Amino acid sequence: MILKILGSAAGGGFPQWNCSCSNCNGVRNETLQTKACTQTQIAVSPAPGAWVLVAASPDLRAQILAHRELWPSPENPARSPIVAVYLPSADVDAVMGLLHLREFQSFAVYSTRSVRRILCKENSLFRVLERATPGVNWHELTLGETTSFCLPGCQEARPVFRYTAISLGGSYPDYSREVYNPAAIADEANIGLVLEQAGKKIFIAPTLSGRSSSWYEHAASADIALVDGTFWSDRELIATGRTQKTARDMGHLPLSGPHGLLAHYPRKAPGRKILIHINNTNPILDENSAEHKTALEAGFEIAQDGLTIEL
Ligand SMILES: [Zn+2]
Repeated sequence: MILKILGSAAGGGFPQWNCSCSNCNGVRNETLQTKACTQTQIAVSPAPGAWVLVAASPDLRAQILAHRELWPSPENPARSPIVAVYLPSADVDAVMGLLHLREFQSFAVYSTRSVRRILCKENSLFRVLERATPGVNWHELTLGETTSFCLPGCQEARPVFRYTAISLGGSYPDYSREVYNPAAIADEANIGLVLEQAGKKIFIAPTLSGRSSSWYEHAASADIALVDGTFWSDRELIATGRTQKTARDMGHLPLSGPHGLLAHYPRKAPGRKILIHINNTNPILDENSAEHKTALEAGFEIAQDGLTIEL
């Protein structure tokens, strides 16, 4: 498998259009040792010439343009190498990119039933995907169930990898209405994804609420874990004056503090652990900051756009 981090920032990207925090100003004015990042987007290639996306970022069009592997080949001009998209939640920064994939292209979308319902029943804009012939093919993710993935058109139906969705707690986005948001399926709001092939395991969790411990064993046993690095501290976004919500209120376990991700992460995890979905306010983005150093010393890597790993 090949894993590519096409984008590593949280919603809004880095810098964010309406933000003049020290990080955003620093990257705009080139006074901070850091790099601009697009919104979190993961791509995995389980077989030559085939790519699976995890999330569908608002920056997806530019991210595809920036990576030759994701371009349609001249031999097959009407066919993208992107065969499937896994949706971790119905958050705007995880689904908006689907609208960039609308040009009469059929592909598979994997989501929980609740996320699909929010997108397709509540937001008619996503019906634009049905215009392909055949239309986009939705698959339901059943929590905790490991399933084989076969490439489309593969005669022998040979699985190329296995996937498991696990509930990570969290909540539905503010835009979704009560009627589509019953408490009985709270577990389907926000999922982590485990991808396995030939004894190698990738764990992807862009949003870790800390309200569920089901992610723990997967983080501990993964060769590569991509985990929620959204906020350094719980009150980080309150300091911007833009909201009264803490990181935990927004469904993100902050990195610092006695109950934060760095302290709470499984001690004996032998694989690479990489922070993704990093908000523009997070001090780890400043490569000269104490927080950046602390994250590295705790054994974490801080994702940058374009990071590629072969497993
Ligand atoms: Zn900012």
